Amino acid sequence: MNLPAHLSLSVLPSLSFALVAPPPPQEPAREQNPEISAVELESHVRFLASDELRGRRTGSEELNRAARYLAREFESYGLEPAGDEGSYLQEMFFVVETWEALPEVDLVSGDGEIRSAVYGQDFRVRQPGGDGSFELIVVTEDDALPELQGDSIALCLDGMSTSKARRWLEAQGVPLGIGLDLLVTFTRKPGKSTTKLPRAGRPRLAQEDFDPSPTPWIEVSPALRDFLLGGELKRIDLRLHHSRELLPTYNVIARLPGRVAEPGKGLADEAIVVSAHYDHIGVMAAERGEPAADGGEPDLIYNGADDDASGVACVLEIAQKFASLGPQERELLFLLATAEELGIIGTSFYLDHPSTPLENTVANLNFEMVGRPDEKAGGVGKLWLSGHERTSLMKTYQANGLDIVADPYPEQNFFSRSDNIVFCRRGIVGQTFSSYNLHQDYHRVSDEVETLDFEHLQGATAAGLEAVRLVADGTITPEWLEGGQPAARGR
Ligand SMILES: [Zn+2]
Repeated sequence: MNLPAHLSLSVLPSLSFALVAPPPPQEPAREQNPEISAVELESHVRFLASDELRGRRTGSEELNRAARYLAREFESYGLEPAGDEGSYLQEMFFVVETWEALPEVDLVSGDGEIRSAVYGQDFRVRQPGGDGSFELIVVTEDDALPELQGDSIALCLDGMSTSKARRWLEAQGVPLGIGLDLLVTFTRKPGKSTTKLPRAGRPRLAQEDFDPSPTPWIEVSPALRDFLLGGELKRIDLRLHHSRELLPTYNVIARLPGRVAEPGKGLADEAIVVSAHYDHIGVMAAERGEPAADGGEPDLIYNGADDDASGVACVLEIAQKFASLGPQERELLFLLATAEELGIIGTSFYLDHPSTPLENTVANLNFEMVGRPDEKAGGVGKLWLSGHERTSLMKTYQANGLDIVADPYPEQNFFSRSDNIVFCRRGIVGQTFSSYNLHQDYHRVSDEVETLDFEHLQGATAAGLEAVRLVADGTITPEWLEGGQPAARGR
């Protein structure tokens, strides 16, 4: 007898007892795979993709909070720290530039008359730097760099185009005007006035020679040349409303050493890097927000539940399982990378500062957007593999009974769009597991936890665990197929 749906057993305890023997308590579907906990997967995703973490933008305090969460997880699994100085964190610094308002330049004549230059029309900023008031000294390309007294000299490179000015500065031993106060060159023709803020450079990795306050360089319209060089000008006042911050961000890395059977024997000196990126794209500019359906505040947060909180949760669960399973033949490194959305920068930084020498690294197995089933991969619990035609990996998985299928969207070029690709450019086999089905929430504020399927994520993680295990225990050693290895790209 079937009870009407709304009268489930729990509602009518007495009745049910009277009527039929209660069936054994069913494990909620998602705990079917005893090894992988969907509850833990969901709790990881719910934290990482919460509004609280404000879209996990690189350089944000929220992303660093996520990094500390991930490090605590790795520590709680008993994995070895593989970051800086015995920690799980590998630190790097990002330069984040911000324009708070339109830059301002005032030209002050000897009799105190102030002429405010119009941004876009009379001047533009080639290189932002510190504000100040400057007296003008003019040189041409035939001159040598004069002795500059004091720290408020604007050096006007008269008659030099930008490239000629760069070469002249190089030749004078002050590349980009390093150490000078202000550079002034002239454009060939006046520009157009604009109220649009200058484009802030994309956050970028600070190089060793990072200069916190480079020399400001403005390019002035030829229409102002006579006023500047005609002898009337007393000084230039610069207020650029620009700031440059050096913000720390972290890769989070843990290690499970390989099983050392006999010294020099086995595969223990070989490593696999299992990865996912934990950063996302932050918060949308308020003016771009769409009013909420209920007329409430527009949702501006890119929660990144599928991209890539799902992959991070998957890697955490796999790391936990291996920590409890103990050392495998090969060493396992678990890398949760930052700054993928800014151009795979966190993983590139890892490759320049590897926890285990790259020559000992046999593969990168990367997990990206595994939170929603893809019918083209076989539906719930199934994964597809990018770059399947380039290496032996997929075929050997299938030969070992692991049903991982080919990336169904070769036209999307996913092989080159995630963290694996930078390993490949160093000659290391690197491929991405995913179940991304081209859903419409990609890089939208709608990529929310509620859109994920945790039964699927559980199954996908179980498949991922098996995929890692087959390489970790030495059953599979992935190799490039003829012509499969992409060309190295300059770093
Ligand atoms: Zn992603």
